[in-house]
Order: sequence, then C-alpha cells, then structure tokens
Amino acid sequence: MKRLTLLSRALTLRCPACGQARLFTGWFAMPQACPHCGMKFVREPGYYLGSIYFNYGLTAVLTMIAFFGLYFLAGVPAESMKWPLGIFCMVFPLLFFRRARALWLAFDVYWDPTSEENAGNRPAAADSAR
Ligand SMILES: [Zn+2]
Repeated sequence: MKRLTLLSRALTLRCPACGQARLFTGWFAMPQACPHCGMKFVREPGYYLGSIYFNYGLTAVLTMIAFFGLYFLAGVPAESMKWPLGIFCMVFPLLFFRRARALWLAFDVYWDPTSEENAGNRPAAADSAR
C-alpha cells in the first residue's frame, strides 16, 4: 500500500486498509476490527504500546523546540517555561493519542502487512514465505 495513502488515512483516523470506516468510536475507544472491511485493528495483546513511540517522540521534540526556541531566540528565562511546558507535556499526549495510534497502525501495516491487507500488492511467493 502506498505511504501517502496510509499517512492520509492515519491522519484522518480512517481504516488503513479500506479508508472507509473510522478507527475510533469515542475519544479512546476503538473497535476490534473494521466494520467495513474486517481488518483487525488490534493485531495482538499490547499492540498499541508501539504508538507510545510516536506520542512520546513528538511530545519530546515539540517541547525541546519550544524550550530552546524560546530560551535562545526570545530570551525567555528557563524557570518561567517550567509550568507551561510541563502542562503541555501532560495535555498534548492526550490530544495526540488517537493520531499516534492511527500512525502506529499505518506504520505497522506498511512495514508488516498481513496477506489480507496486502492482497494484490505483492507476488504470491512473498506471502508464502511468511
Ligand atoms: Zn476497513
């Protein structure tokens, strides 16, 4: 599957396989599988632990950019950034939670597709080797 297709479906919180169904039924609630195409959203127990890499990584990068940008370019004292950046580090991961999971799912579908997710995109010999 093409990277841009997977990325756009992840950013719009759609199923990476069909792009039709929503990934979330609530703020944190995900169905086990796509109601449209049947793709499993939870591939194994603890599957979304990997989404923490996206969530924590982006939070850390944005915090560092804000801190060093404000400190060196705007001259804001480090002490006065403690609370705003601390609150950002607590709130942003909650707001980015769904996108992080969707990006993780798209990342995993791209790098480790099941034969159903990749039907028609690879030669049959590649599927039998798995
Ligand atoms: Zn689907």
